[in-house]
Amino acid sequence: MRLTLLGSGGDSQTPMPTCECRVCDPAREEGLPHARYGNATFVHEADAVVDAPESVWAMLNREDVRDVAYIFLSHHHMDHVGGLRVVQAIGRPQYPLDDWDNEDPATVVMSETTYDRIADSLDIEAQYDDRGYAEFEFLADGETMALGDGVEVTGLGAPLDPGGPADAAMGYLFEESDDSALVSPDETTFLDLEKVPEDLDLWVKECGMFRETPDGDPILSDDLWADERDHQTTFDQTLEQVRTVDPDRTVLTEIEEIYRRRPDEYARLATEHADLSVEFGRDGMDIEL
Ligand SMILES: [Zn+2]
Ligand SMILES: [Zn+2]
Repeated sequence: MRLTLLGSGGDSQTPMPTCECRVCDPAREEGLPHARYGNATFVHEADAVVDAPESVWAMLNREDVRDVAYIFLSHHHMDHVGGLRVVQAIGRPQYPLDDWDNEDPATVVMSETTYDRIADSLDIEAQYDDRGYAEFEFLADGETMALGDGVEVTGLGAPLDPGGPADAAMGYLFEESDDSALVSPDETTFLDLEKVPEDLDLWVKECGMFRETPDGDPILSDDLWADERDHQTTFDQTLEQVRTVDPDRTVLTEIEEIYRRRPDEYARLATEHADLSVEFGRDGMDIEL
């Protein structure tokens, strides 16, 4: 199986407009690997994109992706669905246009909870259904769907908060012959790790929050840190989760600008955890299983 990390950023892209910090300046001047679009992963065998941040239009062009059959959405937050209108471009009919329906629309897959949460905010009925831009399918927690060419995907759900719906944040487990890759781009804080197969080859996973910048300055005030920790994953928790699941390889994504770390600093941090086979993602990173 082959995957490309289309974008390795998260809620924030790097560079952030107007910011002149130690990560935004080199990202603006040199581009990759300092620059990071939002969080999205491409699974080549299935022509599948996981998550559609605002920047997905630019990422698909940058990586020269010519066919998208599926878009899987992990959860309803805007940094994961804000670019969903990219489906407008996929399978467009030839001129002259008789109507706006796409001839070969992408299939957008998500949990019912995510659909309920974006139906109004994205105006799915008028903006997508009525125009025939995409088809929509639900995937439930634990349900498996065949994607063709011997690729299957299983939804691994997690609540966003304790007691919330179990399918609010979906990870997607792609399997093809002996290869398995779990793409759970964000919101793994309350993921029941028992659901993850023991012989996982690859985990594409959120990096988690850092308490301090590389210089030791707190990134969040004590109060905000305490608030966020109630429902957000920290980098230390990510390491613990990776230690528990023990996949062959882990690529971290959702790397936020506010962490203020540069690619060489992430590379050094990865070597400190070499026993866990953890790598920090970068935009355009090719991952071959
Ligand atoms: Zn996110
Ligand atoms: Zn910045």
